[in-house]
Amino acid sequence: MRIVVTGGAGFLGSHLCDFLINEGHSVICIDNLITGNTDNITHLMGNEKFKFIHHDVTEYIFIEGKLDAILHFASPASPIDYQELPIQTLKVGSLGTHKALGLAKEKKAKFLLASSSEVYGDPLVSPQKEDYWGNVNSVGPRGVYDESKRFAEAMVMAYHYYHKIDTKIARIFNTYGPRMRKKDGRVVPTFINQALEGKPLTVFGDGAQTRSFCYVSDMVQGIYKFLLSNINEPINLGNPQEMTVNDFAEFILKLTKSKSKIVHKPLPVDDPKIRRPDITKAKKLLNWSPRVPLEEGLQKTIEYFKKTL
Ligand code: UDP
Repeated sequence: MRIVVTGGAGFLGSHLCDFLINEGHSVICIDNLITGNTDNITHLMGNEKFKFIHHDVTEYIFIEGKLDAILHFASPASPIDYQELPIQTLKVGSLGTHKALGLAKEKKAKFLLASSSEVYGDPLVSPQKEDYWGNVNSVGPRGVYDESKRFAEAMVMAYHYYHKIDTKIARIFNTYGPRMRKKDGRVVPTFINQALEGKPLTVFGDGAQTRSFCYVSDMVQGIYKFLLSNINEPINLGNPQEMTVNDFAEFILKLTKSKSKIVHKPLPVDDPKIRRPDITKAKKLLNWSPRVPLEEGLQKTIEYFKKTL
């Protein structure tokens, strides 16, 4: 296949580019590099199956020749990023999704949206199933991301029903691994780097809030299986193993053998109290479930960050 990956120089996008090229596909990576980084794709430059286009996908996307699939992964994705880049976040979810869908329509290509567990907001049910409509504060600090993903989902369904595009909506839960940015503010790179540098681990609030962490190689395989499927409904992709942020901090201290202390900082506004995917649908429809144990995935991520110290 000849595949476009928007946001292909980001954390998830670049792992996808690697995976697709390994599977024998040709990849066109589009990124405006506001949160992505060419360091993530340098090793692919010069590969005849890989092409990088420096472009903002909220502007018209022109690609010559046939295309089989478009994976729309462009967006600031960490709470710090989307609060620093609120307009860009809203634009890439709305205008960017529209342009990427327009390209899919023109090329009669499959389309996969990187949606998010954030469409469920601060959920009132647990675990979250795809038929839960969510609990989102549209005017809160996370609203720019949550609503842009919700709008993107609606736009994708409109193109599916009206233009008959073969679309997929992957609701991606917390994913971690090498190439996350050290300072993106998310809990995995933050705690690992604090532990490695002997600095206190900053737990927000009382640390009783929960998250479920999926290793990037599992996530990429789930996305690929979804792309190859004939399913057009939203599907949750994530690891259902849930833990509190407190327990996660302790686990990082253990794995890094760090003597750092744990300190508490104020809980950010609208920080979801629980998050755990129900992946029954992914198991049944895609025959997918995550395989990498948390300890193994974290060890690989710790090794990656040790090299960047
Ligand atoms: N968190 C924390 N300390 C940090 C960074 C994050 O306690 O230095 C918490 C955050 O409040 C949230 C969880 O860890 O409850 C996961 O945060 P992250 O930014 O990774 O992403 P989110 O899952 O909230 O989108």
